Amino acid sequence: MSKHITHWIGGTLVATAGSAPRRGDIFDPATGKVTGQVDFAGIAEVDAAVSSAAGAFAAWRNASVAKRTTVLFNFRELLNARKDELAAIIVSEHGKVHSDALGEIARGQEVVEYACGIPQLLKGSFTEQASTGVDVYSIRQALGPVAIISPFNFPAMVPMWFFPIAVAAGNTVVLKPSEKNPSAALFIAELWKEAGLPDGVFNVVHGDKVSVDRLLEHPDIKSVSFVGSTPIARYVYETGTRYGKRVQALGGAKNHMLVLPDSDLDLAADSAINAGFGAAGERCMAISVLVAVEPIADELVDKIKQRMATLKVGPGCNGDSDMGPLVTGVHRDKVTSYLDSGLADGAELVVDGRKHPITEADANGSGTADGFWLGPTLFDHVKPGMSVYNDEIFGPVLSVVRVSSYEEGLELINSNPYGNGTAIFTNDGGAARRFQNEVEVGMVGINVPIPVPVAYYSFGGWKASLFGDSHAYGEDGVHFFTRGKAVTSRWLDPSHGGLNLGFPTNA
Ligand code: NAD
Repeated sequence: MSKHITHWIGGTLVATAGSAPRRGDIFDPATGKVTGQVDFAGIAEVDAAVSSAAGAFAAWRNASVAKRTTVLFNFRELLNARKDELAAIIVSEHGKVHSDALGEIARGQEVVEYACGIPQLLKGSFTEQASTGVDVYSIRQALGPVAIISPFNFPAMVPMWFFPIAVAAGNTVVLKPSEKNPSAALFIAELWKEAGLPDGVFNVVHGDKVSVDRLLEHPDIKSVSFVGSTPIARYVYETGTRYGKRVQALGGAKNHMLVLPDSDLDLAADSAINAGFGAAGERCMAISVLVAVEPIADELVDKIKQRMATLKVGPGCNGDSDMGPLVTGVHRDKVTSYLDSGLADGAELVVDGRKHPITEADANGSGTADGFWLGPTLFDHVKPGMSVYNDEIFGPVLSVVRVSSYEEGLELINSNPYGNGTAIFTNDGGAARRFQNEVEVGMVGINVPIPVPVAYYSFGGWKASLFGDSHAYGEDGVHFFTRGKAVTSRWLDPSHGGLNLGFPTNA
C-alpha cells in the first residue's frame, strides 16, 4: 500500500492545501519501487507551522525546567523502547542496514540524554557584591521558534543533534527533514506527543527549496540549524543571516585518513573498510581518501582489497547485509559515473563496485535487481585534480593517494577545501600529537576512523564544512539555542542613592 506523508503542525497531521499540491516520490532503495509520496509545503503550510511554534512558545519557555526535563526523560524512554521500529522506517527509505540505523538512533539518543541535563546546562553565574550592594548575574533564555533543516543521510540522528537541546532550553521547533526520507521525522513527532510535549512545540514540514526559503525569510524564525551539501549550506547561511537570524550551517566533506608506515596495517585496513563503506559511504564522516605514506601502500591496498571481497551487499533489513543500496537511482547513477571519470583521469580501478555480487532478495523478497545498488569500489594512484579526488562523491568509493612523507600527507589534507573529519593511524604518539596540532580539520581521530564527538563535546567541521561559528550539540548547542542576559541588581539600601551622572564604576 502506498503511503502518503504530510506535515505535522500543532500536534496533528495536516495535508497540504489545494487541489494539486506539489509532492515527491518516496522510494524503497532496495527494490527501486515507489512506496509513497510526500507533500511539499507551500508558503501557507510553512506559515502555519511557524505560527503554531510561535503560539506555543510563551507557555513552553515559561514551563518550569523540571517540567521540561520530565518530558525529555519521557521522550528518551520512548525512543529507546521503540528504536527498532524507527530503525525499520529508516532502512525502508534510506537503505542503510538495520544495525547502522540503530547506531544513528543511539548517537541521537546521546544528545537527548545530554539535554536531560538542561537544569545544569542552563545554570548562570552570580557575583555577589560586584559593586557595593550590587549583585551581577547571568541567565540564558530561549530564542523562540527555531528551524532545523536536515539531509537524507541521517533522518533521525541529524535532527537529534539539534532539537533535544532546542526543546529542553524552551524553544519551539519547525523541522524540515529531507524529502527523500520524511517518515522518521513523523515517527519522532508522535513520540514527542506521547512523551507529553505540548502541541505546537515540535512541528514538521516537508518539502524542498520553497519551504526552506520561507523558513529562512520568516520573521518569527529566530535561528536556523542546517545540515547538507556545501553549496546549500553556504546559501542557507548567507540568506538566513541576511534576514537577521543566527545560523549554523554544516556542509559537505572529503575526509582523509593518513596512514603512517609504523601503524598497525590490519587495524588501518579494517578501519578504512568500516569508515569508507559503512552506510554505503553516505556519511559526512565517511573516509573517502586514504593517504598512504610509503612504503606501505601496496600492502595496505592488498589488505583492503581482500576485505572488500568479503562484504555482503544486500537489503538493509537482511540481518547479514554489511552494506545496503544507495538512496536513490539518480544518486547511484551519479556515484557510478565517477568510476568512469576516475578511469579516464588515470586512476587505477582496483575493485569495481559494479561487479560486486548483490544479494537481491531474502526470503521476504525485500530486495530486487531494480534496487539502487553499487558495490564497494576502490581506486588507487589517485591524485588531486582528478574528479574522484576533488568532488564529494558520497558513495561507496574509496580513493588511495600515495605520498612519501607525513609532511606531504598533511599538506594534502590542509589544502583540501573541506575540513570536516580526519584520522591518523600510527603507533607514534609524537606524530599523532603533531597531527592534532597541525591539521586544519574540525574533528580528528587518532587510530579512530570516524571521530564523531560524544554528545558533551560538539560536532562541527572547519572551512567549507561549516558556515557560522557554532558547532552542533554539546556546549555549542546550548549556547546556540539560548541568548545570554546579564543582570545588575541592587536592592534598595538607604545608604545609597543621590545623583551621579558619571558612568557606573565598581566601588
Ligand atoms: P542537500 O544539500 O541536497 O539537502 C539538505 C537539505 O536542504 C534538505 O532538507 C533539502 O530539502 C534542502 N535543499 C536541497 N536543495 C535546496 C535548495 N536549492 N535550496 C534550499 N534547500 C535545499 O544534502 P543531502 O543530499 O540531503 O545530504 C547529503 C549532504 O549532506 C552531503 O554533502 C553530506 O556531506 C552533507 N552532510 C553533512 C553533515 C555534516 O555534519 N557536515 C552531516 C550529514 C550530511
